[in-house]
Amino acid sequence: MVRDRVALITGASRGIGRSIALALAAQGAKIVAVDVDLQVTEEFVAELKAAGTDAIAVQGNVTVTADVEQMVKAGKEAFGRIDILVNNAGITRDGLLMRMKDEDWDAVLDVNLKGAFLCTRAVSRVMSKQRSGRIINIASIVGQMGNAGQANYCASKAGLMGLTRSNARELAVRNITVNAVAPGFIATAMTDALPEDKRLALANQIPLARLGSADDIANTVLFLASDNSGYITGQVLGVNGGMYM
Ligand code: NAP
Repeated sequence: MVRDRVALITGASRGIGRSIALALAAQGAKIVAVDVDLQVTEEFVAELKAAGTDAIAVQGNVTVTADVEQMVKAGKEAFGRIDILVNNAGITRDGLLMRMKDEDWDAVLDVNLKGAFLCTRAVSRVMSKQRSGRIINIASIVGQMGNAGQANYCASKAGLMGLTRSNARELAVRNITVNAVAPGFIATAMTDALPEDKRLALANQIPLARLGSADDIANTVLFLASDNSGYITGQVLGVNGGMYM
């Protein structure tokens, strides 16, 4: 399905990005793992290589144009092409609207939205020459529903969905599909730390009555990265247990 395809994943060494990299690697993809912390990324790539995956670690900040150009160059030099881009790097800087600092607004919009724009712009040049590609943006359910205390984050993720649709229309002529995955509440270190009653209250709002897992997201990305999704573009696929429909 994705055997020998080259996948560049941002924010690859932790959390959901790591699960996405592992899922693509398990199906034979070659991995360009991008993250801000080189040591952690190199350790992850060593794990991938030990399991037989072709992979490289690239240190890069998705908000810096020169870093983005460098990560794409490194991927091309190592593997000759880039078939799959997963814009996964993301941050939160939560706070109530009236107290939100300018720098918290800017930081979140920079990483979550501008970062995806910069990476897509750079990778789409490579994919355009190849006349094929898959771009998958990791958005969020709160970009669809809103969430008190997350004006910056919700705006960035809603913007990412608009970017997805616009890029899908522009790049279709080059046989490049662009889709977004909008995760609901995913069990992570953050949600693990919640008291049991809070976790239950959260699960009660979800028709499937459980938090999602990073693997739920990774499996959806795997589908969108594969040949099986060739006629799907410009879509936002909710992976949220039915919490938003
Ligand atoms: P995470 O564990 O914090 O991982 C995010 C990764 O992105 C980290 O490795 C982080 O590196 C990296 N990163 C941050 N800023 C970066 C930058 N400027 N350039 C390159 N890499 C950068 O987050 P996660 O929970 O796995 O989330 C992954 C994606 O899913 C995000 O886009 C998030 O918004 C989205 N999402 C998550 C959930 C959830 O419940 N977890 C729900 C909906 C959507 P450092 O840690 O070293 O800074």
